[in-house]
Amino acid sequence: MYDHRKIGRELGLFDSDPLIGAGLPYWLPAGAAVRRALESYISEVERRAGYQQVYSPVLAKRELYEISGHWAKYHDDMYPPMDMGAEQLILRPSICPHHALMYRSRSHSYRELPLRYSELGGQYRAELSGAIGGLSRVRAMQLNDAHIFCRLDQVASEAESALALINQAYADMGISASRYVLALPAEDARFGDPSSKYVGDADSWAQAASLLRDVLKAAGIDYEEAPGDAAFYGPKIDIQVEDSAGREFSLSTVQIDFHQPAAFGLEYIGADGNKHRPVMVHRAIVGSIERAMAQLIEVHGGAFPAWLAPVQLVVLPISDDEEQRAVEVARRAVDRGLRVEIAHADEGSLGARIRENRLAPYAAVIGAREDADGKLAVRERDGSRWDPAPIGEVLDRIAKVSSPAAVRSGE
Ligand SMILES: [Zn+2]
Repeated sequence: MYDHRKIGRELGLFDSDPLIGAGLPYWLPAGAAVRRALESYISEVERRAGYQQVYSPVLAKRELYEISGHWAKYHDDMYPPMDMGAEQLILRPSICPHHALMYRSRSHSYRELPLRYSELGGQYRAELSGAIGGLSRVRAMQLNDAHIFCRLDQVASEAESALALINQAYADMGISASRYVLALPAEDARFGDPSSKYVGDADSWAQAASLLRDVLKAAGIDYEEAPGDAAFYGPKIDIQVEDSAGREFSLSTVQIDFHQPAAFGLEYIGADGNKHRPVMVHRAIVGSIERAMAQLIEVHGGAFPAWLAPVQLVVLPISDDEEQRAVEVARRAVDRGLRVEIAHADEGSLGARIRENRLAPYAAVIGAREDADGKLAVRERDGSRWDPAPIGEVLDRIAKVSSPAAVRSGE
């Protein structure tokens, strides 16, 4: 594996500036293209899996986190509140409370459940400066988070589907989990009193843990139990990945939460006409876009699969005579949604330009013959060549295999 910080710099994917601050990287155009492709892919898999996407603000009043329990139990990881006249605002440490309020804003029937809200949203963590670096530990992260509000009898199947979705995404992204961890409360944990680390009661915790164990067993996944690593509101499955230095990070998670639905007084009307409390399944396919990007950069060494590549097709006119045809090919590729660049003849010898663009999944060299017959000969990154074919046909073929939607459907 490669160090994502080194490759990130070489390929112009991301950077940081001391004036913005440590742990606050920004995305340059090439990195932003990869990130956007990843986000499109996630949106697509969620759409197909019945999630509804929402957006919510990154700031909220301190009271919100007092009710959710974050203020009492997660305080050390949160930024200090900002005084705004009579109220205090906080950069959110998690997206869950916002989704709980969205759920609460409408009445719900049991027929609507499971209700799956997902969001690509920002979340903030007051990491100490000694702990941050590259994309692995940052102070402002983007999550692909979701909360599934469901009946108790739906929890297991929802958690199972979420886990399956994560495993599919890993396969599509070309990354692999180093370990599955069932994060549990400490063995001597007390629940519910102000001095304990955990909210709720022992019975709900035991029930949630046993549901997650069943989910892991049903999926045939080997896992390790980690007492003491649970969230303050419930146990969770953490999916770990390893970076190039052998350090392990949680990238994805599935959690069962009985606490926040109670804290926010969430309800649905059951088949019996009475009010019932839903359960929240928290799920992140990519618990931090930054960490996922670090992992993708290291695993692929910058040679991203076509659907993620910053430049998917590079067009190389052999000489200035084919420049016009190259521009036409590039324009038609852009129209098909492709990320394309022209390596112009005046930028160096053909060999040098091919080497310079060796990470692009597809390269089309245009010489006098291609210019004359309007055909395109494409060379893949691994050296394999396609027979020359009409420009439109070739571009359609590249566009088809390069779209995030195609990756998911296996088309
Ligand atoms: Zn959550």
